[in-house]
Amino acid sequence: MGYQAMPVPRDGYHGIQGLRDVPAAFFSHRHAAYLAGLGTFGVNNIIITPRNGPRIRWVTVLTDAVIEGDGPLEEEVCIHCNRCVKACPQNALRPGRYPECITDKERCIDRSEILAKQGISPCGMCIAACPVGLPKGIVTGPTDEAKDEIRSYVKKP
Ligand code: SF4
Ligand code: SF4
Repeated sequence: MGYQAMPVPRDGYHGIQGLRDVPAAFFSHRHAAYLAGLGTFGVNNIIITPRNGPRIRWVTVLTDAVIEGDGPLEEEVCIHCNRCVKACPQNALRPGRYPECITDKERCIDRSEILAKQGISPCGMCIAACPVGLPKGIVTGPTDEAKDEIRSYVKKP
């Protein structure tokens, strides 16, 4: 077709220390998804989609092809239930609207560091707690069996 295109993979940071030094990725898939009308920002600062809530892994294709988009969604998808705020073990989230209410990145990174020492990644409790996009009655966290399985991977000192 003659157009330039470049894939942008997920994650663009250099480990936990890299996040502390520069708490940003080189490209924001979240903002691209928002502008493309795929979802809106939730209280947890994650893009909440109508179909899958925050349970999405984003990648992006940059291109010079002219593609007409719909623009951002007119209605917020987040229902402001604040379950993500309550679920965060670090108190890194506060009720409100993005971008006024930004995640406390230092606190969130602290949690990643604690979990990494236990061989666990990522945290994601603010994603698991979100009811948007979940069929009714579904379990919103790992089962005890899954947790035991994960713990069995952690090396004992
Ligand atoms: S990833 Fe964990 S620590 Fe970070 S904001 Fe979400 S719940 Fe809090
Ligand atoms: S848990 Fe509730 S407040 Fe948090 S992002 Fe999901 S819908 Fe919004």
